[in-house]
Amino acid sequence: MSKDNKYLVVENYIGGKFVPCSKLIDSFNPSTGEIYCKVPDSGPEEVDAAVRAAKEAFPEWSAKSPAERSKVLNKLADLIEARVEEFAQAESKDQGKAITFARNVDIPRAAYNFRFFASSVLHHTNDCSQMDHMGCLNYTIRCPVGVAGLISPWNLPLYLLTWKIAPAVATGNTVVAKPSEMTSVTAWMMCQLLEEAGFPPGVVNIVFGTGPRAGDALVSHPDVPLISFTGSTATARLITERSAPYCKKLSLELGGKNPAIIFADADMEQCISTTVRSSFSNQGEICLCTSRIFVERSIYPEFLARFVEAARRWKTGVPSDPANDNGALISKEHLQKVKGYVALALKEGAQVHCGEGVDKLTLPQQNAGGYFMLPTVISGVKDSSALMQEEIFGPVTCVTPFDEEEEVISRANGVRYGLSGVVWTRDVGRVHRVARKLEAGLVWTNCWLVRDLNLPFGGMKNSGIGREGGKDSYDFFTEVKSITIKH
Ligand code: NAD
Repeated sequence: MSKDNKYLVVENYIGGKFVPCSKLIDSFNPSTGEIYCKVPDSGPEEVDAAVRAAKEAFPEWSAKSPAERSKVLNKLADLIEARVEEFAQAESKDQGKAITFARNVDIPRAAYNFRFFASSVLHHTNDCSQMDHMGCLNYTIRCPVGVAGLISPWNLPLYLLTWKIAPAVATGNTVVAKPSEMTSVTAWMMCQLLEEAGFPPGVVNIVFGTGPRAGDALVSHPDVPLISFTGSTATARLITERSAPYCKKLSLELGGKNPAIIFADADMEQCISTTVRSSFSNQGEICLCTSRIFVERSIYPEFLARFVEAARRWKTGVPSDPANDNGALISKEHLQKVKGYVALALKEGAQVHCGEGVDKLTLPQQNAGGYFMLPTVISGVKDSSALMQEEIFGPVTCVTPFDEEEEVISRANGVRYGLSGVVWTRDVGRVHRVARKLEAGLVWTNCWLVRDLNLPFGGMKNSGIGREGGKDSYDFFTEVKSITIKH
């Protein structure tokens, strides 16, 4: 860990030591547009050093009992929990998110990821066939895979990184992780706690840098047999290609274009407040955010009016102010991209009801260069429009009416993605019918983002390959062996 004169300087963590990198890149504070820290621009050399350290640590770590490993994970959870405020402040500055969100969601969940997998790894069972099957006892065991390569995005930095590190090390793997170059600080802060938690050197290595250099070196390293990736579908394609020659085990958690389907019998009050949250939380920068809202025609005008009113109350402003729901978007380029979709909507003749171009956001002088955007609600968009087809990943959502159950299911499924969906109705038969037919890995009814970590998480179609979560993470981060003993 070091600080140069002006900026925080992040260092790689390899083999239990902080290692400075000769090349650095700038990472910005999205709420001011100013440089917040300098991050290693690691490449193949740094990645190789980390993989060697992880390989060296593997025999000892993988030989420990799950109970021994569990203790270390729980201790790390304690250490993070004792520093929630410090971590939350850093996450908010680095990512642009509202401090309240970082305090209540990101950091507590990061600690909980370690606690959850520390416990869940103690309770898995293996299969055993009948004693007399051809005079043999047949059973399975599960073994860690080796060095796990973990790549995570910028939207929920420590939350998603720990969602990978925790199950990987709980099951006996050692890891080389690469967080997003745009949000490195909380991962680096966590490295400062690993030794105290009891992780032997080399079990967790973190290499910072860009995707094309550090990420690619990790994906194409021959001694990394497994890659768990969360990020965009476009990057996942490259990763699939690069890892194919090595037949790596891959888990891909990708983008979404998630529908909310609102039937006329929905509890309007609850539905509106939850749909505002599901559309705009974390500036709309959550893969599970709602970006297409289908509303049954009989309640459409009332819904739209009340939804727009509620969206206007979702407060955007300086992230450090606990009164704000949203902060700034991740980068200048991303802000331009998101705004570009609103411009396209206008060009296509759609109606922008609030937010971008309609309402004015007043910010303090020091935040004038920040990447802010107000929650924006659009109607009158065709299903074929890019706004209804592409992942916007910002505070923009489209609202459209529908008439029939079958019609709305088909329209909701009419995209390349299949991550999540929300259904609002009080008719339980309809809940079953619609949930079964939606092409999505997760379907919430009358709620959003309620997560039982035991359940599989992941998407279908272009939203990903594989599932993670309790048993699924255990399966992914281990190799199963079938053993037959003749007696
Ligand atoms: P991204 O794909 O640009 O980057 C994700 C990570 O991959 C970063 O660490 C990046 O440095 C790295 N990377 C980029 N190019 C690479 C390459 N060629 N080889 C190896 N690594 C490379 O995604 P992003 O913009 O950081 O994140 C936003 C995306 O992530 C959205 O599409 C969002 O939906 C998705 N996401 C999905 C989930 C999920 O669980 N399904 C969760 C959060 C975010």
